[in-house]
Amino acid sequence: MGEKLLLFGPPGVGKGTQAVRLSAALRVPHISTGDILRASLQSHTPLGNLVRSYVENGKLVPDETIVDVVRERLAERDAREGFVLDGFPRTVSQAAALADILRGTALQSDVRAGAIVDSVVVLDAPTEDLVLRLSGRRICESCQTSYHVTGRPPKRAGTCDRCGGTLIQRTDDAEETVRFRQQDYLQKTQPVIDYFLQNGWPVRVVDAIGDIDQIFGRVYAAIFWR
Ligand code: AMP
Repeated sequence: MGEKLLLFGPPGVGKGTQAVRLSAALRVPHISTGDILRASLQSHTPLGNLVRSYVENGKLVPDETIVDVVRERLAERDAREGFVLDGFPRTVSQAAALADILRGTALQSDVRAGAIVDSVVVLDAPTEDLVLRLSGRRICESCQTSYHVTGRPPKRAGTCDRCGGTLIQRTDDAEETVRFRQQDYLQKTQPVIDYFLQNGWPVRVVDAIGDIDQIFGRVYAAIFWR
């Protein structure tokens, strides 16, 4: 059986980076609601048209919409044995919906949803560090490689080292939007951790300050040396 993991934490804390590594190490799919929504914007699907203004302004898309997306994705064959869910749930109502989805996919309506999930990893870092991290982030338009203006600058300003593509700032990484997203996290998403704790989900808090390998080591230890 593969691991069923939730990766949790404020915008910019490195959920995506750690999720990609975990997914490769554990051979389970990485399911990122942010990635699914951004892909839908690019391909102009009905979902993309519905969520564009929310995603571009860093606002949470309506719960019903994102819950449908996750329900469909978790029903796919590759997610049956395990998954790394990244960026969902972001509200208490999404968490309750996830509990129903998990009980449904496990075909065990009597089981506690928290017992179906192996770990809820909460990545933790101070808000001001995250604002600096996100507002300095630049992404290659072509291959999506991520850079940082001071932390991980490209060899030639504005150009991707890997493919020569142009580096851009995601509209939701503009500083004002970043501050709004952090505030939204504290108000709407942080309460989900209390929901998890009250309902017996296996929450593990991991310090997300440090280099990527170091943090991965902590995440791995939190999952397997529980
Ligand atoms: P992320 O890459 O996880 O920061 O997600 C990018 C954007 O997608 C967010 O700013 C929201 O607009 C939207 N989004 C992703 N996941 C969710 C979610 N669980 N609930 C609502 N909106 C979401």
